[in-house]
Amino acid sequence: MSDPFVVVGGDAAGLSAASKCRRTDPDRDVIVFEKGSWVSYAHCGTPYFVKGEVDRLEDLLSLSPAAAEERGIDLRRGHEVVAVDTDAATVTVEGGGTTFEQPYGDLLVATGARAVSDPIEGATLDGVFTLHGLDHAAAIRAYLTDPDEFEVAALGGGDALDESEVERYGALAPPETVAVVGAGYVGVEMAEAFDAWDLDVHLFQRPDRPVPAFGDAVGDAVTEHLREAGVTLHFDEEVVRLDGEAGHVDGLVCESGAELAVDAALVGIGIRPNTELLDDTPVELGASGAVAADAYGRTTVDDVYAAGDVAEMPHMVTDEAVWDPLGLPANRAGRAIGATVGGDPTPVGSVAGTAMVKAFDLECGRTGILDHARARGAGFDPVSETITAGSRSGYYPGAAETTVTLTADRDTGRLLGGSVVGTDRAAIRIDTLATALGGELTVAELERQDLGYAPPFSPVWDPVLVAAKVLN
Ligand code: FAD
Repeated sequence: MSDPFVVVGGDAAGLSAASKCRRTDPDRDVIVFEKGSWVSYAHCGTPYFVKGEVDRLEDLLSLSPAAAEERGIDLRRGHEVVAVDTDAATVTVEGGGTTFEQPYGDLLVATGARAVSDPIEGATLDGVFTLHGLDHAAAIRAYLTDPDEFEVAALGGGDALDESEVERYGALAPPETVAVVGAGYVGVEMAEAFDAWDLDVHLFQRPDRPVPAFGDAVGDAVTEHLREAGVTLHFDEEVVRLDGEAGHVDGLVCESGAELAVDAALVGIGIRPNTELLDDTPVELGASGAVAADAYGRTTVDDVYAAGDVAEMPHMVTDEAVWDPLGLPANRAGRAIGATVGGDPTPVGSVAGTAMVKAFDLECGRTGILDHARARGAGFDPVSETITAGSRSGYYPGAAETTVTLTADRDTGRLLGGSVVGTDRAAIRIDTLATALGGELTVAELERQDLGYAPPFSPVWDPVLVAAKVLN
């Protein structure tokens, strides 16, 4: 085998790249090393698996190992790449009971990110979880299930699930009180998941609002909605320690001195890019701490690419290199790099941080730059407006209030970012704003867009257009 395309990491970015490379150049050898047993899985669905809305772990896979191999991908699960030598163009791999050197023609680092919990003392206690991967999700759901009803096979993990840890949690009495530490999108989704199991849910957040990246209007709406749903909110509170007797969590302590007895905790305070593999190489990291990559996903070393949660990408509005670890950019960048190394040079595109989150019945979306300080730092003079309007014609059943915030540059009128929140198909409206950002529209141009109107779907003036009208 000569000059294979070697991919490190077998999920969104890695397998998108491998598949696309094989399609673009069917003669190119492609090897994917994945240190775990799962490949091509949907992190994004794990809160809904924990909740019980998704039945089986296997439902969260988009491409089975067999399907990947049918595409001609040499997929090596249980193989960890432990070193990269960019001079020799080889990677060192541990797997299959041995260690070996694998030469590459092109290398893609698609190692993703990992959940952070180390700032909190006691985060390694039993009953304390992060949610980053299917094994974590399976352990949490096992713990929530009554031991008399628990069956590991019912989770649908096949040969990929690490059953011992899951069985251990499945044998425990379910928790009654859970602390969710961190009210970013994972924390909010998990608060909903725990509530579905009738736990007493306490949500802790260091800032004074949840989902800060979505801006104040969304944060305020989510706060009210979570409270109405019965979640106990502890905002402006920093959890500094988790305590436990006999190794199992039984309480937490905040910086303020506040304490709470809990028998489970989910730490969702952020993620960190998995860049360590490149520590002893000349591949440079960007200011964010993720791998610096150019418009084609190329790192600072020839023939070495990076994509997904481990890499920076250009921002759609500011052009600066940013770290926005989300699913679509990971898939898109991987696919583009696969095409490029297959002989069809394709840019990875840019990101606007477009994200959606569901908090019980409330739908939230955000895109672009909402934060005025950040906008000013990028040379803009930001101005924002927030409006609330109906989601459908007022007389049509199901209409609900939808709140839209738009931020624009005062001088040019260029749209910089926006958010949407409401209970009636609010989140998907963010795609109109994301498309407007991609087209570099001004607020006046957004107002002139010919959006659809029919009473069951939208009023004559969609809330997005109302917001544009008010800001214009
Ligand atoms: P990953 O999916 O993390 O995959 C990296 C892979 O590399 C892993 O399988 C890992 O085992 C492997 N690996 C790492 N190091 C090595 C090594 N040295 N050798 C071999 N293999 C290695 N995004 C959205 O856009 N919308 C959502 O709703 C959403 N929800 C989410 C919910 C949760 C709970 C989480 C955790 C994430 C969510 N995301 C969401 C983010 C999204 O899942 C990620 O952006 C995406 O999975 C990134 O893909 P990736 O391929 O870069 O990394």
